Amino acid sequence: MAQAHDHYCVICDNRVPGFEHGGKSNDRKFCPNCRSKGRYRLIWLYLLRELSIDIKQIRVLHLAPEHSLMKKLKSLDNLVYITADLMVTDVDVRMDLTRAGLVDRAFDLILCNHVLEHIEDDAAAIKELYRVLSMAGELLLTVPTNKGLVTEEYHLAQDRPLSSFTPEEHYREYGFDLVDKLRDVGFAVEVVWYMKRFSLQEVRRLGLKNEVFFVCRKR
Ligand SMILES: [Zn+2]
Repeated sequence: MAQAHDHYCVICDNRVPGFEHGGKSNDRKFCPNCRSKGRYRLIWLYLLRELSIDIKQIRVLHLAPEHSLMKKLKSLDNLVYITADLMVTDVDVRMDLTRAGLVDRAFDLILCNHVLEHIEDDAAAIKELYRVLSMAGELLLTVPTNKGLVTEEYHLAQDRPLSSFTPEEHYREYGFDLVDKLRDVGFAVEVVWYMKRFSLQEVRRLGLKNEVFFVCRKR
């Protein structure tokens, strides 16, 4: 039987009674303290354990930053940390990812979670991600997937003002053919099921979500 406070949030570093369910997806297992979701906690563990994000002197670009993750990353003095978004105002750079306007190879790590599905010309965005990543850098990319091979495109009404789009609207649900799209611009892609590195007990205790990471590096 689960004991009270036997769960632990790795983002706010707190013992919590459990992770609240906000819907059918375990993605919405919010931390009652910092409101982080299961996939944010999995990403944080990857950054910490696999990339040593807390000690490396690197330049990080965080696109459409998840608030609780952003707070965590902002607290790390070893990073040059830049946040960017098209619609949100409390970021360092307001930009359209298809025309990022950032200098070539400016970042050693790019975090791009649940962004591409909101961009009509995702191929242009992927090209920009490639362009602004340093030669030894890493792009950590996540998207909602249908777990199949083929991306399903949705045909959203064109010529609508950007402000009329709700955050839930997606241009597509990706299949694993996303890997081909990433390779087309020159990325080497590693598909990482990071949650598999944890025991079932840890998954429950830490409230993790089984999110697939597309880890992209320059060839
Ligand atoms: Zn938390």
